[in-house]
Amino acid sequence: MTELTASILKTAAATDATCGCADPIPVQRAARKGAAVTICQRCGLRVPLRLR
Ligand SMILES: [Zn+2]
Repeated sequence: MTELTASILKTAAATDATCGCADPIPVQRAARKGAAVTICQRCGLRVPLRLR
């Protein structure tokens, strides 16, 4: 995991905010306890799954 990715994941885990990008780049990353989160690589916030 690169430092950039770690930083993005930390940001995503620290807030309940979700991505508001018009054209998000969803990337799936492993979170705690084997769970996975989908985050936007543009802004580092969670991507609401309902948008997919
Ligand atoms: Zn975004």
